Amino acid sequence: MIRERAYPVDPWHIRETRLDLDLLAQSESVFALANGHIGIRGNLDEGEPHGLPGTYLNSFYELRPLPYAEAGYGFPESGQTMVNVTNAKLMRLLVDDEPFDVRYGELRSHERVLDLRAGTLERTVEWVSPSGQAIRVRTVRMVSFTQRSVVAFLYEVEPLDGPSRLILQSELVANEQLPPMSKDPRVAAVLDHPLQSEEVLEQRTGGLLVHRTKASDLRMAAAMEHLIDAPGKHAVTTEGHPDWLRTTVACKLEPGQKLRVVKLAAYGWSSHRSLPAVRDQVGAALASARLDGWEGLIEAQREYLDAFWDHSDVRVEGDPEVQQAVRFGLFHTLQAGARAEQRPIGSKGLSGPGYDGHTFWDAETFVLPALTYTQPSAAADVLRWRHSTLDLARERAQTLGLQGAAFPWRTIRGQECSAYWPAGTAGFHIGADIADAVRRYVQATGDYDFEREVGLELLVETARLWRSLGHHDRHGRFHIDGVTGPDEYTAVVNDNIYTNLLAQQNFLAAADAAKRHPDLARKLGVDDEETAGWRDAAAAVHIPYDRELGVHQQSEGFTRLQEWDFENTPPEAYPLLLNYPYFDLYRKQVVKQADLVMAMYIRGDAFTPEEKARNFAYYDARTVRDSSLSACVQAVLAAEVGHLELAHDYLGEAALMDLHDLHQNSRDGLHIASLAGTWISLVAGLGGMRDFNGQLSFAPRLPSRINNLEFSLLWRGLRLRVNVTADEVTYSLRNGGGSARLVVNHHGKDVEVTQVKPVTVPIPPAHPVGPAPSQPEGRAPVRRMTS
Ligand code: BGC
Repeated sequence: MIRERAYPVDPWHIRETRLDLDLLAQSESVFALANGHIGIRGNLDEGEPHGLPGTYLNSFYELRPLPYAEAGYGFPESGQTMVNVTNAKLMRLLVDDEPFDVRYGELRSHERVLDLRAGTLERTVEWVSPSGQAIRVRTVRMVSFTQRSVVAFLYEVEPLDGPSRLILQSELVANEQLPPMSKDPRVAAVLDHPLQSEEVLEQRTGGLLVHRTKASDLRMAAAMEHLIDAPGKHAVTTEGHPDWLRTTVACKLEPGQKLRVVKLAAYGWSSHRSLPAVRDQVGAALASARLDGWEGLIEAQREYLDAFWDHSDVRVEGDPEVQQAVRFGLFHTLQAGARAEQRPIGSKGLSGPGYDGHTFWDAETFVLPALTYTQPSAAADVLRWRHSTLDLARERAQTLGLQGAAFPWRTIRGQECSAYWPAGTAGFHIGADIADAVRRYVQATGDYDFEREVGLELLVETARLWRSLGHHDRHGRFHIDGVTGPDEYTAVVNDNIYTNLLAQQNFLAAADAAKRHPDLARKLGVDDEETAGWRDAAAAVHIPYDRELGVHQQSEGFTRLQEWDFENTPPEAYPLLLNYPYFDLYRKQVVKQADLVMAMYIRGDAFTPEEKARNFAYYDARTVRDSSLSACVQAVLAAEVGHLELAHDYLGEAALMDLHDLHQNSRDGLHIASLAGTWISLVAGLGGMRDFNGQLSFAPRLPSRINNLEFSLLWRGLRLRVNVTADEVTYSLRNGGGSARLVVNHHGKDVEVTQVKPVTVPIPPAHPVGPAPSQPEGRAPVRRMTS
């Protein structure tokens, strides 16, 4: 685990002041740079030592067989694994014949800074070689938000004490050797030499490599070019090999002189295009990068981020650690999706190989809510990607004997890749999560073109799946049996409330959208009978309730299962999935992650305040948070039911998931859902923001240590700012002119906001609440009040 305060608290930077080789892999994830299309881990420029080398292109994957000891009908046969592609980060330095390697010689100082406003990672090192030559190296790297195929590096080196001969070798390397795989099912499969060389081109100051995968048949090209600024005489050469390309700059420098090299790199890939086409594409990307040059790229990066922060920043006063973490989270959320452009967002973004680079419901349910209100075009693009995979989802439904579309639980390209069906195929709620994201996006943006082009069909095909998966019993009640909800410690159950309530919403959203676009709906084969069937099913959805205990049942019969023996579960037995068999977890009341609690957030309109309070207390006492997707949602409900200090504790856990490596697996990549979830904890939790039925509402209340919270949202083109203090809230519109007005609901009362007139309203006194709910033995979140 990263020790407390490994990164000093700073509102806009993540600073590492000392290199700790034991934490190298975690820091490579924290310092990963990406734009949704390309991702590079924060590996050291010289490549070694490393934790996990990583360079990724969104959706560039290799196929691998999924082995089963006992296969069954409908089991997916082939898995997809994100490929570690050609590495352009490598810049090795020789100082008077000695390789610059932090493990040897003397490392006088080593600092790395991720600048959240500049969008760069900067490294400054002072090192003395084993033979006594002192040098200073400063490197800056960026993955461009404005030119999505471009990555750029600045490398500056100077001798400090005496003249020195410096050789800089800048490389592209394919098929890097990766460390062996661990037994943890959450890490990635290691592919051996996934790339086959197709072309090498070397020029004086750069060149390119083209490769192809064997089974998935994808082609990629990586190109580089160097702008060299060396005082006096220097020599430049480039050599090529099928799997590497190396440009070498050799020079002699006196103290006070500096070698400065800008490395521009470009990536492209395709499943269809020819070799010349992909080659030309990266050539063009390099030309475009050259046109702007280093300064131009840096300037454009900052402008892009200035605009992003202007409408997305969240300010938190009173808890500087959370302030830093929410910006870190938003930055990585943006990096995961900004330029994904009709490609998925993986659960680790492009920061590491964990979960094989797959996308899950994490994207639609955790990342998209944040993006919908801050960077809506990126949210739309993810849904457009889902739409582009509809045929595969229809095929999967057919294989399973169902109608409509069965979207995969985990995938890169669109095919189901989960080899464990109780937590994969049975996780049908993914369809309703996609529908929920469609509903939210259309409602927040009013983008009805999107609804026509993409949204309607997604809603219709997911509604059809629910209609065929569920059934009416002899009393007319509608049940969905044999599915797994968000809690993966309770699998293949009947009437999981989360699934049922989201399916209900899915039915109604599909019927309403079909009514808005009757011609298009008819083309999709929707008639009145079908929509009436959806509305009937929605009205009859069964919601299991335990009258004796006065709480809802996460799924039918849940509250009568045996209790888990938390008292005799030692701390080192968590996460339980690595230490107990699933059969035991499945038959007891132990909850991996927010499930009914999640339902009470997304479908909060289906519960009374009293039900929420009772349910929250019951399920909090049984939820172990073995998934990083839990704390942020528990924060939202804790705040709603009035336990603000507990909400703050859960917020802290979600926020620090990666900065403190709380699940001890940040090395495999960041927990993007939890990072985006930090935004959810603040905006939906402490801000009490909900968007039920097209009405934007807030119920802000702050815990004692946070004295001010400010966030902004985009709502139908209007920029709303919400500023919360201990006793009042100011709503203001930041655009729209004199005629723009927005009605928001504040603690149950409508408030009209215009650009000319911000509105300040008091926060009504809170109802008294009882003691905060308890958590399973040893699983309480760290208290923020005392941290
Ligand atoms: C969680 C899932 C999640 C997946 C990827 C699992 O541990 O239980 O809900 O989608 O991780 O983040």
